[in-house]
Amino acid sequence: MLSLHGKGVSSGISIGKAFVLQRDRPEVPEYVLPRHLIEDEVERFLQAVERSRAQLQRIRNHIPSTAPAETASFIDTHLLILQDTMISEEPVKNIRERQWNAELALDTQSKRLVDVFEKMEDPYLRNRKTDVIQVVDRILRNLMTPGDDEHERLSTDLSGYIVVATDLTPADAVLLKHRNISAFVTTLGGPISHTAILARSLDIPAIVGVHGATQYVRTEEELIVDGKRGVLLVAAEREILAEFRRRKSDIDRFRHHLELLKTSESVSADGQRISLMANIELPDDIKAVLQVGADGIGLYRTEFLFMNRKEPPGEEEQYEAYSRVIRALSGKPVTIRTLDLGGDKQVNGIGSSQAVNPALGLRAVRLCLNDTSLFRPQLRAIVRSSAHGPVRLMIPMLSNVGEVFRVLDLIKEVKAELSDNGVRFAERLPVGGMIEVPAAAIAADLFAPHLDFLSIGTNDLIQYTLAIDRIDDTVNYLYDPLHPSVIRLIKTTIDAGRGAGIPVAMCGEMAGDARYTRLLLGLGLTEFSMHPAALLEIKQIVRSSDIDELAGFAANVLQAGRMEALHALVDELNERASPENTNLS
Ligand code: PEP
Ligand code: MG
Repeated sequence: MLSLHGKGVSSGISIGKAFVLQRDRPEVPEYVLPRHLIEDEVERFLQAVERSRAQLQRIRNHIPSTAPAETASFIDTHLLILQDTMISEEPVKNIRERQWNAELALDTQSKRLVDVFEKMEDPYLRNRKTDVIQVVDRILRNLMTPGDDEHERLSTDLSGYIVVATDLTPADAVLLKHRNISAFVTTLGGPISHTAILARSLDIPAIVGVHGATQYVRTEEELIVDGKRGVLLVAAEREILAEFRRRKSDIDRFRHHLELLKTSESVSADGQRISLMANIELPDDIKAVLQVGADGIGLYRTEFLFMNRKEPPGEEEQYEAYSRVIRALSGKPVTIRTLDLGGDKQVNGIGSSQAVNPALGLRAVRLCLNDTSLFRPQLRAIVRSSAHGPVRLMIPMLSNVGEVFRVLDLIKEVKAELSDNGVRFAERLPVGGMIEVPAAAIAADLFAPHLDFLSIGTNDLIQYTLAIDRIDDTVNYLYDPLHPSVIRLIKTTIDAGRGAGIPVAMCGEMAGDARYTRLLLGLGLTEFSMHPAALLEIKQIVRSSDIDELAGFAANVLQAGRMEALHALVDELNERASPENTNLS
C-alpha cells in the first residue's frame, strides 16, 4: 500500500478506481531516419492525425447536455486547427526533406506557429496559440502512446472514478461537473483553487497538493481518498479498506440525518433569523439549491458562462440564463455577481493572461471598467432580468469607492436606455459590493453608505491579506481563515455594515465550512452563502447555537494574539457544542 498526503479541501471518504489525467507534454524524441523508412514515418504521422480527428469528433458527439452551449465550438476550433495544412501537411515535408522523425517534425512546426501567434496584436488571436498547443499535444500523444484513450474517456463515462490530475482549470471543472465523479486528487492547487471549490460544490471528497500523485497512481488502480485528513491510499490492504468503508457509512448516516432539516427554519436557539443562501456557477446548479431549501442565491459566478467557448455570450443569452435562474427561485433573491474574469479565471484572450501577476492585475471590476464593451451587455441583461423576480447585483473585487460610483453611473445609464426603449425591469435593484481586498475591508465604512449590502469574499480576502496565491500549492500551508488579521477584517466589515444599516453576507468558502460557523455567528454575521452541499450542516449548527453566548466567545477570539491559542479556542467551542460530529468527515 502507498500512502500520499496533501491538503484535504473537501471532506468525505471515497473508495473507487483511479482515472489519471496526464496533461504533461511528453519529452519529444529527436532522430534522423534512414531513407527507406521515410514513407512509413509519413504514414505513422498521418495515422496519428487521423486518430486525433476521430477522438475529437467522438468527444464532440458526447458533450454532456449540462455543458455550456458553446462547448461544441471549442472542440470545432481544435478540429479546424487539425485540418489546417500548417499542422497536417507541413510536418510531412520535414519528414521527407530533412528525414526527421514525426514527433520532431511536428514539434518544430508547432513552435513556429506559436511564435507567429505570440506576435499577433489582437489578444483573442494571440490566445489561440493555446489551442494550437493542445492540438499538437494530442497528436504527439497519439504518436507516442497510440493505445492510450484517456482523453476520450474524459468526455465519456467517468462515473464513480476518482480523477487524479496535475491540476484542473476552471474550464475543465465545468466539463467535469455533473458527471458523477467520486473524488478529485490534484498534485497542484490550494484550498480555495477552483478545483477545490468545484469539489465542494459537487459534495465529493478532494485533496490538492498531493505531490507525485500522477506519477505513482495508474488508471484503474483502487484508491481511498480521505478528504478531511488529506490522505490518498493506493492499493490498500483488505482490513484498511474495511475500516474506511465503515467510516464512510457513518458519514452517510450523518448526512441522511441532515436531510431532515431541509424544511426547517434557519433560526438560532435564541430566536435570531440567519439567512442561508447558495453559491452557483451555472444555471444547471439550481437543482441542488432547490433540493436543500436555500433562502436564495448569495453568489452567482457569472464568469462561468464565458468559459469553454470562442465568443463571449451576448446580452440576450445572458438575459436568458439569468432569467432562468430567477424564475426557478420563485421569489427568493438571486445575487448576480458581475464578471470576475482575470486572475485564475482566464477566458480566451479576456483578462490579463500576459500580466506578470494576474491576481493583482486587470481582474473583475477593474477589467469591466477598463473596457465597458463586455460590461454594458451584462448590466443590461441583469437589469432586464430583474423583471422576473428579486435580483441583487454584486460587484467583485472593489478596492476603492470610485469604482462603486462608476458602476452605479453605468447602471443608471443602462436603466435610462432601457426605459427609453420601453423595456421592463424592476424599479429597485439593490447593488452590493464584495469585500475581498484588504483595502476595502479596512475602509468598509467608506463603501457601505453607497451600497445596499456587502458580501465578504474570504477566498480572495485571505489571498490578498496573507499574500498567498490561492492556486500556489507551495504556500498552501499559510492559508488560514483564523489568522487574526483575517478575523479582524471580517469584524471590521460586519461593523461597517451595521453602522450603515445594511446587511453583511459572506460568500467565500469560509461561510460553508462548519468549523467557522459558530465564530462567524458570534462576530455578528447574519447571511451565509455557500455551495449547496454544505447548507444543511450549517443550518444544524445555526439551530443549535445561542448567538448571544457566541458573541462573548467571539470577543475572546478577537483578543487572542497567537494563532495556536485562537485555533484551540475555536476547536474547543466546536467540540463542546457538538461532540458527536467532530470525528466525522
Ligand atoms: C471569494 O473570493 O471569496 C469569492 C467568493 O469569489 P471567487 O472565489 O469567485 O473569487
Ligand atoms: Mg473572489
